[in-house]
Amino acid sequence: MKTQVSEEIKQRCEELKISDDAMVELMDLFLRELNKGLSKKDNPTADVKCFITYIKDLPNGEERGKFLALDLGGTNFRVLIVHLKGDKDFEMESKIYAVPQDLMVGGAEQLFDHIADCLANFMKDQNVYDERLSLGFTFSFPLQQLGLTKGLLVKWTKGFNVAGVTGEDVVKLLKDAIKRRGDIQIDICAILNDTTGTLMSCAWKNHNCRIGLIVGTGSNACYVEKIENIEMYEGLETNQMIINTEWGALGDNGSLEFIRTSYDRAIDEQSINRGKQIYEKMISGMYMGELVRLILLRFTKDGLLFNGMDSELLRKSQEFQTNYVSQIESDEIGNYKNCMEVIHKLGLSANFKDCANVRYICECVSTRSAHLVSAGIACLINKMNEQSVTIGVDGSVYRYHPKYHDLMVKRIRQFVRPEISFDLMLSEDGSGRGAALVAAVACREEGRISG
Ligand code: BGC
Ligand code: MG
Repeated sequence: MKTQVSEEIKQRCEELKISDDAMVELMDLFLRELNKGLSKKDNPTADVKCFITYIKDLPNGEERGKFLALDLGGTNFRVLIVHLKGDKDFEMESKIYAVPQDLMVGGAEQLFDHIADCLANFMKDQNVYDERLSLGFTFSFPLQQLGLTKGLLVKWTKGFNVAGVTGEDVVKLLKDAIKRRGDIQIDICAILNDTTGTLMSCAWKNHNCRIGLIVGTGSNACYVEKIENIEMYEGLETNQMIINTEWGALGDNGSLEFIRTSYDRAIDEQSINRGKQIYEKMISGMYMGELVRLILLRFTKDGLLFNGMDSELLRKSQEFQTNYVSQIESDEIGNYKNCMEVIHKLGLSANFKDCANVRYICECVSTRSAHLVSAGIACLINKMNEQSVTIGVDGSVYRYHPKYHDLMVKRIRQFVRPEISFDLMLSEDGSGRGAALVAAVACREEGRISG
């Protein structure tokens, strides 16, 4: 039997619904912002910057060689070695290293020395310490790229706020740190965004892939744009280029107020980047659990949940993890096993009615996220206007939430031109293999051979 959600909770959650009209409005808004980002005249005032990636070629599956890759900007920092063997075959080893909290908000040298340390440690582990290897650096923050191996950090996002990096060339900071050690030989071939890595990694297997999407700690998308639409790019030697939209910044100029709630404003107030990444804060994993917590706390204080009794943990920020949302929504209908567990972990006591309500609140927040992402993707698909397009997707929210994929497919279908077909493909480790592929394509262009 399904326990009923209380009417008052349903009503108070209405503001979390993205109506059909709101979807259309969002898509229009995003399209205008995208075009501003691409335009020379309007780019300086655009929220969605549409960064040029300098990646023009998609992989063909024949790439070969041994590459190192770094992946910084998600939940974990990873170092990888990827052996591309041609014919869509590859081997990969990786190791996760912690980035201690104090490094995420410390100084540039400390952070990059730590990265170089991990790299050297990994090379020893993999018995390639003495080899000279090429490296692709997945750096998942807004970068103004001046080339494939030169990128200035525009601003930090997510949990990072390291002094002395904004405005600097991140590749140079890494090179300097490697030089300071003096023991390892690395050629940094490319710096790229995780969305780009995801697109490349999927395109390697599926030639239809034209969009890369991340719904993880942060959220962002990139896509393949025709060169004549990219006023910001001066060269003409190519007919297309991957554009990193940095869509997380949508709404930074106030344009999303029509769908924001008091909870979204509270999230922004507590964040280390106030007023920034407004769309991302309504979508991504760094904020989803916290949004649910704020709603639960409000409803408890108003006597709608847990008999009006909150707990110390429920009052503590970040205590409701985003993966709880996935766990709670993974319970079979009418069974609240995971939900009860989470509620107990938070030191609360609940009856079945509370469980039904908590689950409903989780559904509202995750569905809103999926619908917001769908508006962005539907807009990109319509803009590209290809007959059929594959979207490569990665990120913990998309990967682990039981319904996110289906919610997206349904909502995108509703707003994409009927003659266009699309599919969402889970990326196999875009940040790792994608980085190696970008490095391989870059080395191919330079006529260098690696490994
Ligand atoms: C960053 C993007 C990144 C996304 C997903 C955002 O906060 O600005 O560069 O692609 O997170 O990791
Ligand atoms: Mg990642």
